Parts: sequence; C-alpha cells; structure tokens
Amino acid sequence: MEDTFKHKGLRYKLVNILKTKNIKDEKVLKAIGNVPRHLFMDSGFLDHAYQDKAFPIAADQTISQPYTVAFQSELLQIKSGDKILEIGTGCGYQTAVLLELGAKVYSIERQQELFKKTSKFLPKLGYRAKQLVFGDGYKGLVEEAPFDGVIVTAGAPYVPKPLLSQLKIGGKLIIPVGEDVQIMNMFIRKGQKEFEQEEFGEFRFVPLLEDKN
Ligand code: SAH
Repeated sequence: MEDTFKHKGLRYKLVNILKTKNIKDEKVLKAIGNVPRHLFMDSGFLDHAYQDKAFPIAADQTISQPYTVAFQSELLQIKSGDKILEIGTGCGYQTAVLLELGAKVYSIERQQELFKKTSKFLPKLGYRAKQLVFGDGYKGLVEEAPFDGVIVTAGAPYVPKPLLSQLKIGGKLIIPVGEDVQIMNMFIRKGQKEFEQEEFGEFRFVPLLEDKN
C-alpha cells in the first residue's frame, strides 16, 4: 500500500483537470489531492487511477468518476463536524473524500462482499467513518438522523422519502435521479415539509437497487 511521489504527481494533475472542469472549492480540491485513489482499485490499474473516469471494481460495481465525487462534494458545502449520510459506500472513495473534508460520515452499502472489504480497508488508510452499515440505503439511517447532508452515489429511479425526512432544517440531499441517465438533484430542507429543489445536468451511475438483498 504505497503512495509514492509518482502517485502524488498524478493526483496533482488530476486536481488540475478538475479545476479546468470548473470545480472551484479549494477544500474539495485539497481532499481529492489527498486521497490515494489508486489504493481503492485493484493493483495493476495505476494507469487508470488518476484519469478522470469511473472504473469497474469488485462485485460489478464502479468507483465513481473523480469529477462526479468533486461535484457532489462541492454541492454539500461541508463544514467540519457536519453529520453526513452516504448511500452506496462501494470501495469507499467518496467516503474518504468526505472524511478529508472533516465530516462525520455514516455510509450504507447493500452488497455484503463490498461492505466487508471496505470496512476492513478504510481504517487501514486511517479513514474512520462513524459507521459503515450493511443495509438498504432507500431507508436511510433513522437511528442517527437528522443529518446535515445526505449524498446518494447510485442512480435513484425516484427520491426516497426517508432521505428527505432525515435531513436537518437547512440540510441538503444530493441525489442523481433517473433510470439510464440521471439528473443531479439537490434538495434543501427549508421547513418541516418545505424543500427547495435545484437540478444540475446529466450524470451516469450504477443503479440504486431496491429489495434485492
Ligand atoms: N461511493 C462509491 C460509488 C459506489 S457505486 C465511490 O466512491 O466510488 C454505488 C454503490 O451503491 C454500489 O457499491 C452499490 O452496491 C451500492 N448500492 C446500490 N443500491 C444500494 C442500496 N439500495 N443501498 C445501499 N447501497 C446501494
């Protein structure tokens, strides 16, 4: 598990690519610059680790594209100590970026194999989430609610109600909504039943699966 000058140099280049794609938040850029993405992928894929692309990992899943991770993280506008719920832990790359941003992270994964692997792997790199949960993200994590932010890292066919109801007032849900292509949506909770909604362009994610445990 090495992080060499070569890796750091490649990461520096990746951060510059994200800047050209209009990621501006310095904290987010710094976080991406700190997380050794190559260690989240199987060895032998170094060439791919610092390209701005999604990439296949275990269990037919993908590690999200760095641009997407940066974009969603930027929308969350995390302050140190914010309580953030992530849906779709996968290999834990986004989780690590959230932790670099100073968030207290709760993350849910429905694939047991990935859940086990990532639960062992993240602490080895010093990334300590508050809780990694094996379960169904559609339900959120009611026992730890409310959250300052909820980030969904899989394509949701619709917006699950529990994720909205588990937000603090002022809290944000960042969720890609759609079947084949998703539109990035942000919901800000303005009151008990009031939400402000904003849409941000097209993205492509693996699907948020329902009832398939
Ligand atoms: N956050 C990851 C992206 C993972 S891809 C990263 O940083 O790269 C999306 C993940 O969502 C997959 O691991 C998939 O197994 C998981 N997933 C799909 N449906 C889910 C559900 N209902 N609840 C929780 N996780 C789910």
